[in-house]
Amino acid sequence: MSSLHEKRSIHWLTGQFRNADQEAEYRRSISSQVRLETALAVVVAALIYGIFMIADYQVMGPNRKFYLMVITRAVVVCLCITLAVIIVSRRRHVYETWLHAMPLWILATGILLIIPMRPESINAQVTGTLVATLAFYLMIPNLLTIVTSASLYLGIGFLVFAVLFAGASPWMVIRVALLLIMANGVGFFALLRLEKLRRGQFSLLLEERDRNRQLLDEIAHRELLEEQLRRVVERDALTGLDSRSHFMKRAEVLWQGSRQGKMPFSLFMIDVDHFKSINDTWGHSQGDLVLTKIAEVCAQSMRSTDVIGRFGGEEFVAALPDSGLDDALMVAERLRTRVAALPFEERMRELQASVTIGIAVAHGDDVDLQALITRADRALYVGKREGRNRVVVCDEQRDEGSGEESEERSLT
Ligand code: GH3
Ligand code: MG
Ligand code: MG
Repeated sequence: MSSLHEKRSIHWLTGQFRNADQEAEYRRSISSQVRLETALAVVVAALIYGIFMIADYQVMGPNRKFYLMVITRAVVVCLCITLAVIIVSRRRHVYETWLHAMPLWILATGILLIIPMRPESINAQVTGTLVATLAFYLMIPNLLTIVTSASLYLGIGFLVFAVLFAGASPWMVIRVALLLIMANGVGFFALLRLEKLRRGQFSLLLEERDRNRQLLDEIAHRELLEEQLRRVVERDALTGLDSRSHFMKRAEVLWQGSRQGKMPFSLFMIDVDHFKSINDTWGHSQGDLVLTKIAEVCAQSMRSTDVIGRFGGEEFVAALPDSGLDDALMVAERLRTRVAALPFEERMRELQASVTIGIAVAHGDDVDLQALITRADRALYVGKREGRNRVVVCDEQRDEGSGEESEERSLT
């Protein structure tokens, strides 16, 4: 935080950022505006300087000195306009100090050159110089150092020329010097304040941008975490199938859809046979591998509209919308035979994995997904009892009240 403060602190005298990179960034941000402002101010100042030709004519008449004056003014105006055009058309990201300083120095020189040519109007020129000094500061913002140096050049030059060519008395020099110091002081501090204010605003803008960027980073990070968390909750880490809770959510949606559309709906409970002995024989990590492969086969044996999840341990559960008994049997058989034919490598070459599948087909009066799961589970245990590696259908709803037993059909 303190380094940021240091980076953004402003020099008390120049009104610029102490940090060079920061100053360069600021200048980059205002360069096009500065170019336009400077060019416009230079053209206006040059034209005003040129218009004084009329006053020259009134005072001097058409003599050699007047023509010299015309040439001087015309050269200054032309140079200033040329430089203004160059400044505007420059496509650099940062404005060039020397290029912006040049028209001011040329204007100042032009003003000074009037003194030897019209020494008698020195008093009027004092006013003109004071106005020019203030105009430099006020019309060309953002260039404090350039403007200050040009104004000092004009002020000191004026005093020297006034003594040399207009025979100014010491009292007059002191009086004009005081006026020039005042004009420079007012201009300098007004512009310094403006420079500081603008840079202060720029700092605030950057801070806001930083904060926004941090906020966006934070949001992106949180979204990533949320996504990871969602994946953890929705996916089973080992098999990549839906987690039990996520399966229940998705299956419930399918189940309700089937009920409303009066479409058939089937549910599988799938259990790996003798899985404990697989673990015991080849170890837990190999057991994990077997489980993953079986999950893969299960998922591949389903249609894209079916959902399958890991119910827990070595048990899987699948919901098959739009599937009556025949479709369910066909899918279950396909799944069972694929698992039975699953090849394993190296150490587990002789392993023949199998699954037992319990099927529950929904009836019109089924209201609860959990009841279907219970029925499929019961069919599964019948399959286990009957020797495993088989598909068993529970096709009668158990009526607890009447004590009627469900009927299971077994397929191997
Ligand atoms: P059955 O044919 O009757 O289903 O016998 P089983 O051995 O498959 O059933 P049992 O319930 O006796 O054993 C299941 C085993 O599955 C016990 C447990 O350690 C193992 N198991 C559960 N989850 C995992 C797992 O994520 N990875 C591994 N490697 N084993 C697991
Ligand atoms: Mg088992
Ligand atoms: Mg089990």
